[in-house]
Amino acid sequence: MMDRDRRLQALLSEMDLQTQAIRSGSERSPEREHSEPIFATSSFVFPDAAVMADAFINDSGLSIYGRVDNPTVDVFCRRLAALEGGEACEATASGMGAVLATLMAHCQAGDRVVMSSGVFGATLTLMKKFFIKYGIHLDLVNPTDLDAWSRALKTPAKLAYCETPSNPMIEIVDIKAVSALCRANETIFVVDNCFMTPVLQRPLDFGADLVIHSATKYLDGQGRVLGGAVVGSAELITPITAFIRSGGVTMSAFNAWVFLKGLETLDIRMQAHSGRAMELASWLLEQPEVSRVNYAGLTSHPQAELIASQMRTVGGGVLSFELKRPTERPHGALSMQPV
Ligand SMILES: *Cc1c(COP(=O)(O)O)cnc(C)c1O
Repeated sequence: MMDRDRRLQALLSEMDLQTQAIRSGSERSPEREHSEPIFATSSFVFPDAAVMADAFINDSGLSIYGRVDNPTVDVFCRRLAALEGGEACEATASGMGAVLATLMAHCQAGDRVVMSSGVFGATLTLMKKFFIKYGIHLDLVNPTDLDAWSRALKTPAKLAYCETPSNPMIEIVDIKAVSALCRANETIFVVDNCFMTPVLQRPLDFGADLVIHSATKYLDGQGRVLGGAVVGSAELITPITAFIRSGGVTMSAFNAWVFLKGLETLDIRMQAHSGRAMELASWLLEQPEVSRVNYAGLTSHPQAELIASQMRTVGGGVLSFELKRPTERPHGALSMQPV
């Protein structure tokens, strides 16, 4: 890295999230490009055998092979790590690739995983259909029930896992409280932060050990590519890196570039999503056909206080609602007009 870039990165660590989302992690090549280049190459060349041997044997830092590292993917990893406030990051081919790599790297036969019952369907399938075959036990807990987390984490568990808010019920896990329970028992606490993004919530600030993303969702935000990532301490990310390098669930350079462009607008997009979802939630609350609205931005949410304490901006882009039975609705059949 050029000296100027190094000074810029040091300055950026103290800047606000909007600036970090555009600038952090970048390393300009001698071409002085404005936007990050896409290194569309499977492998890299070396000036001589000694330099090559140093790269392969001693991990000297030079890029070796696309499954192991790629400069465009590295910029994405550094930028997301900065946004989540984590030391290290690994990128994967999809969000599920990130879940798989995390569980493969940190769990072994005989281990127990304590998981919120309100996690993404494929995450549950991975545990129930596949990890169980390799002797990894699963206990599910109600995400909002701290006593249930406490009881489940009294027996040694290798890893605890949740999403908050949950989809679609918008149930909130108390990240700080569950982190404390995990810390007391040396359990690794993983939070899937896909629904919030670091703009709205930074789980590492509240004691989580690892943050998982399906970058496919808001980090891209425009439905173009699949990708995933895990952020946390170097100590916990290193085994995940080792799995990805051997297991091959690597993020492509092109997808990393798309995510870098997505991150540049993440802050304004998330604020807009929150604003629109709040308008829709308020409108739904007033409809006579609607019996319940689940949204993290409403003061009527049963966990509004917890939401205010752990979200940077309350809300997010996802809400759900329940309709009254047709017989309880004022006009029988649905009579809603579009907003
Ligand atoms: C979509 C999603 C995933 C899986 O991500 P893919 O990129 O589709 O593999 C994991 N967690 C949550 C919360 C998701 O919404």
